[in-house]
Amino acid sequence: MSENYFKTYPNEEGYFGNYGGAFLPPHLEAEMKKITNAYYSISKSHKFISELRSIRKHYQGRPTPVYYSGRLSNKYGGRIYLKREDLNHTGAHKLNHCMGEALLAKYMGKTKLIAETGAGQHGVALATAAAYFGLECEIHMGEVDIKKEHPNVVRMEILGAKVVPVSHGLKTLKEAVDSAFDAYVQDFDNSLYCIGSVVGPHPFPMMVRDFQRVVGVEAREQFMEMTGELPDKVVACVGGGSNAMGLFSAFLDDDECEIYGVEPAGRSLNLGEHAATMTLGKPGVIHGFKCYTLMDENGEPAPVYSVASGLDYPGVGPEHSMLKDLKKVKYDYINDKETIDAFYELSRMEGIIPALESAHAVAYAIKLAQKFPRQSILVNLSGRGDKDIDFVVDTFGLPENPK
Ligand SMILES: *Cc1c(COP(=O)(O)O)cnc(C)c1O
Repeated sequence: MSENYFKTYPNEEGYFGNYGGAFLPPHLEAEMKKITNAYYSISKSHKFISELRSIRKHYQGRPTPVYYSGRLSNKYGGRIYLKREDLNHTGAHKLNHCMGEALLAKYMGKTKLIAETGAGQHGVALATAAAYFGLECEIHMGEVDIKKEHPNVVRMEILGAKVVPVSHGLKTLKEAVDSAFDAYVQDFDNSLYCIGSVVGPHPFPMMVRDFQRVVGVEAREQFMEMTGELPDKVVACVGGGSNAMGLFSAFLDDDECEIYGVEPAGRSLNLGEHAATMTLGKPGVIHGFKCYTLMDENGEPAPVYSVASGLDYPGVGPEHSMLKDLKKVKYDYINDKETIDAFYELSRMEGIIPALESAHAVAYAIKLAQKFPRQSILVNLSGRGDKDIDFVVDTFGLPENPK
């Protein structure tokens, strides 16, 4: 499947099976074609590849290790391994695609990066990439999120990015997307819109996946070197799906590996209280592409929720949507409570505080380990949890003193 797979998906029009594409106003269609063509030629050039490789090694600190989680495995059964993306510079996998997108912007002669951010994680990663390349950076963020995510706002400002507050509607991610898009439309000659996951119109789901493939390529090789075999199970959390696509892409060819994508079941499975797009949603068009979506009764993107703000998106990458239909990947969910338990469990059993997003994958791996005590499980630990510590302790208390 692999080389062939990457040649087959997406097709010329940006489709992964029935999903993806680019549903855009005509004036932007031409610009997206330009980006697609630039990406196809630039990303194959020796210069681009070696510059990105050097950044990965000397700036980001790659390869990140694969770690055998011995105490956790002894307690729950199975053999649990963690791909340590929390040790990537800035503490999560997001910098993998932000550095790629920013390098592409530089090669295309763009001077400015534009994006929206919800919790601020994508904004911080992009501001980091912009600082590295000496590009301008404009991050649109809802006023509600600006108040909630103060440390990330300060980080972006320290890094030299301009944070544009968005004050209409619910003042959160959806409005920030509209605002960033408007700003981009007015200045697309000089700027590149940098999407934060494997979502949006073609070519973004493909580009972001390709930039994240480094996670899977490294992890597969490291795991083989450590154990002499392939993992029985591969697990990652799915918001838009970039960290998961990065890891999964290296194992799509291996029929003996079972692959699991873990979505947030939030507080309950009632609409508005979760973001389990793949398991509970239906195909539809959102933000310029087709995928599984959570819609309200009017066909508008539904409100979504998760304790992990990086996972609460009412759509999902088109490639995941296809992999679900092909039954190549199993999608399942983990709720808030199981996530918080896993957050503390990994912290206390291994000395690793996971991001709440990643804690969804850890919680699922623990369940699998109990069910399949003889098998090996490779988990993508997509990020570190420093950003979540105050929220978790203030909201849920410590395990010995719960709220
Ligand atoms: C943003 C984020 C995610 C979710 O994004 P994907 O595109 O689904 O990977 C997961 N983990 C961490 C640490 C994040 O910051």
